[in-house]
Order: sequence, then structure tokens, then C-alpha cells
Amino acid sequence: MQFEDSLAFANNLDSEDPLAHMRDAFHIPQIKDSDQNEIYFCGNSLGLQPKLTAQYLHDELNKWQRLGVKGHFDCQYPWMPYHEFLADESANLVGAKATEVVCMNSLTANLHFMMASFYRPTAKKFKVMLEDHAFPSDHYAVESQVKFHGFDPDEAMILLKPRTGEECLHLEDILATIKAHADELALVMLPGVQYYTGQVFDMQVITQVAQKHDIVVGFDLAHAAGNVEMQLHDWGVDFAAWCTYKYLNSGPGSVAGCFIHEKHHDNPDLPRFSGWWGHDKDTRFKMDNQFIPIKSAEGWQLSNPPILSLAAIRASLDTIKQAGGIGELRKKSKQLTAYLRFLLQTRLAEHVDIITPDEALSGCQLSICISSDHKPGKEVFEAIEAAGVTCDWREPDVIRVAPVPLYNSYTDCVKFVDILEASL
Ligand SMILES: *Cc1c(COP(=O)(O)O)cnc(C)c1O
Repeated sequence: MQFEDSLAFANNLDSEDPLAHMRDAFHIPQIKDSDQNEIYFCGNSLGLQPKLTAQYLHDELNKWQRLGVKGHFDCQYPWMPYHEFLADESANLVGAKATEVVCMNSLTANLHFMMASFYRPTAKKFKVMLEDHAFPSDHYAVESQVKFHGFDPDEAMILLKPRTGEECLHLEDILATIKAHADELALVMLPGVQYYTGQVFDMQVITQVAQKHDIVVGFDLAHAAGNVEMQLHDWGVDFAAWCTYKYLNSGPGSVAGCFIHEKHHDNPDLPRFSGWWGHDKDTRFKMDNQFIPIKSAEGWQLSNPPILSLAAIRASLDTIKQAGGIGELRKKSKQLTAYLRFLLQTRLAEHVDIITPDEALSGCQLSICISSDHKPGKEVFEAIEAAGVTCDWREPDVIRVAPVPLYNSYTDCVKFVDILEASL
């Protein structure tokens, strides 16, 4: 499509957007002391609240008021199997079977539980490959696992660095690093979408190449779930984990998602850190001490889950389903983000540098650096926030903006670039 830099053109795109009505399914924050909506480009950090959420939470609070403990059984959406109501739609988001996903714990906790099962170092094959600039929590999780197994992190962690002067990683460099360390690598753990640069990784090819060398592959999908399409099952990915409060709009700190490929569901040799909610459902309440894992991702659950948080996830998944699913979101997202990129490049090319790779390798988010002959990027960020934009700043140098197809508009993009231009 031939884009134009004008509010009229953006208005027209909005009027033709089949997902435009979804904006009304969300609460859009307002600028302080005004009745004007913010330009909310921060769904990569905390997604907005669907209007269904309050209703679904109230349903559970009412149930608790009326039924007490009986809310576990004879009612609509009983708590006992509540996590099962999230499985189909969660699976659709990541391209999995319903039996391969479960909502439980938090993201970093799930990475640890997955490594407890799938990071099985031997004296020779004990290394973990991750990014040099991984999200700190992922780095800490890997480092502590490596130490837990008695290895030296300096030796056992292989950190992928971008080429000199570049921000993003080249697929060929990732694959070359895997091959160079193939005999020593036990685990490759990478993001699906990089939090700082917005780069999408080729999960399929990375999985294929690593597994050819007997290396387990896990992905952190914090910035990928609800953002890009995936086929975790077909790609043969061993495990993955994601939070649900970013593109999945389930509220701050909400329960996380986890994927475990079905090839691992019935493997008695896998160690795992177990809890009663992972125990066979038919005999769970016999309360004996013989752990029999459920032969699905549910077998990795520990505790009976926080229902209020799961209710918020169900509201979010239903909202995404109303929009037609991740395929429809991605279709709009490609054009919406391409439009924002076009506006930045036509109007502000001399002033800003977009470090996010081109369309095929990006999702919603664009990561912008302000040219060094301007005021510092941090000051520009503060100025646009004061003018009604919500986005975020990531050290050392980046303003992250994420137009989200569920609730952002083409008009938002033009207004954002107007404000950014005025702030420079
Ligand atoms: C957001 C994010 C996290 C956050 O971890 P929590 O356990 O949910 O606090 C971790 N890793 C990555 C890559 C993230 O983007």
C-alpha cells in the first residue's frame, strides 16, 4: 500500500480497519486532568484492560460469596478445572495443542521449572547459549541454574553478541555459534521477540539446527505471545514460557503461560519439581505420596492456581477471539507498524534511527534512538510523555513504541509522530 503522511489518510485507514471496533472493548487511559485519551503505545509492557475483565472477575467474586468452597465444583466455570478453560485459546496463540500449554506461576518461575526438567548438563555437554543482552531476569535464571548444577557461569554461559556497531543478531551468526559449540551445548534459550530491539527470531530454524546437535531449545515468548504468529508444536520446540500482562492484556503480574512439547509428556526419566496440581486428576484427592504426573503440560503445575488472575486471562483470550485470533491481529499489526515506520522515516529520518529490523523480522514494537545531535533521548522521552504519549524508555538508549492492533489506530500513529516532532 502507498502510505501518505496525513491525518486524513490515517482516518481513512481507521474507517476501513476491520478491527477498529475492538478499541471499544478496552479501557483507554486518559491524559491527566483531561477527557482526552492518551496515545498508549505501551502494550508491550502492560497491555490495556479489556472491558470483559471486570465482569469475569466479578463473576468469580460473586461465586465465592454465594458458594464458598463449592465454587470448585457445581457451577459455571468451576475453579477445580478452571485452567482448562484457557487451554484452547492459549494454544491457538502459540501454535500448540491444547494439551501442550498451561497457565501457571510467573514467567521467570516457569523458566526455572522448565530448566529443572530440560537443562540436563553432563560433564561434557553443559553449556547454555543465550543473548549477551538478554532480559536480566532470563540471564539471572540461567546463571543461577548453571551454578546450581555446579558449573562456572563464565565457562558455561555462551553469550551471543551483535556484530560490532550493530544492535540486532544475524540468524547466520546464531546458527554458527550453535554449530561451533555443538558438542558442549546442553540448552539454547532465546527470546521469540527481543525486548530491546523488537527483533523477531527465526524460532523454527534455530530449533531445527540446535536439535540436530542434541541440544534442547526453549524460548522466552514474553514479547512474542499475542504479538506474532508461531507454530511451536510443528517446529518441535521443547519448551517455552511467556507472561500474559504484555500483549495478552491480563493485568499486572498476571499468571504466566507455559508450553511443553508433547514428545516430553510421557518421559519417566525427566526430573521435575512437582506439586499436587500436576498429579493425575483421578487420584489427586486420594492424598497418597505416590506422584503420578498428568501426561500433558498440566503435569508441571504445582499449586491450585489464583482464579482471579486466570479469570482476567480468560477475559483477555475471549477478547482476542472476538477479534478473530492472532492471525487477524498480525495482519493489522504488520500494516499499523509499517505505517508508523513510514511516518518516522518520511518526516523524521534525520532525527531518529529505528533499530528494529524490517517488517519480516519485527512485530508491533519499534525501538527508536534519537540522533546524538539532538537533546538526549531520555529528555525527548520525557517530553513526549508530558504531551500525552505513554511508551517506555529502556536503558541505555531506546524509546520503545508499540502500536497494538487490538486498540491502537492509524490516527494514533500520526498524532504520536506530531508530538515526537514537536518534542525534538
Ligand atoms: C517481561 C519479561 C520478563 C518478566 O519476567 P516476570 O517473571 O514476568 O517478572 C522476563 N523476561 C523477558 C524477556 C521479558 O520481556
